[in-house]
Amino acid sequence: MPVALLPPITGSHGPTDAEPLTEGPRFVRTRAMTRWHRVRSGIRYTNGRLVYNLWCTGHVQGATFLSCDTPPASEPVCGLCDGKAVGAGQEPDGPPGRQLLFSPRHINPPKNCPGSRTDMTEELPGGRAGRCLACSDTLPLRAMGGPYNPRWAIVQHPPGPGLVPPCPFHRWRQLTARAGTVVCSCGRDLTS
Ligand SMILES: [Zn+2]
Ligand SMILES: [Zn+2]
Ligand SMILES: [Zn+2]
Repeated sequence: MPVALLPPITGSHGPTDAEPLTEGPRFVRTRAMTRWHRVRSGIRYTNGRLVYNLWCTGHVQGATFLSCDTPPASEPVCGLCDGKAVGAGQEPDGPPGRQLLFSPRHINPPKNCPGSRTDMTEELPGGRAGRCLACSDTLPLRAMGGPYNPRWAIVQHPPGPGLVPPCPFHRWRQLTARAGTVVCSCGRDLTS
């Protein structure tokens, strides 16, 4: 039975020729690995190559790895992978008697809207309020920047219910305005 995967979040520019996978195998290992690992996220490149990222570190790829639902009892399972996957809620089964908790970063929307204090703003008639291009809320405009570099931007605010869906690779962390819409730095148009 495949498991639901998390988005393949990356801090780098991220692959532009790949799509995120929503499902993957429960446990994987290469022949060189000393234990079974759990899969956190996965991507499929346009050339068909699959890469599964592990909850601890590293990845398996191509056709060079083994996968299974339940590792043989005699073979060890990576404690980091098990603890993180169960603690994050990907898997219900942890060690008996433990309530594991692990909170992956950048999964949930940020506390402050990424449109706060940026040029992701559409000025409304009158000039006192703007529409946040990231979440569509209407908010007051304030002068920002120094005296030599003045600009108008929306005040800091929590994301409104209209917040754009996240980029699967960069979430809401690399948004910029482009022609009245919001795009991710990797080129994904998030408002469409
Ligand atoms: Zn692991
Ligand atoms: Zn906003
Ligand atoms: Zn992106």
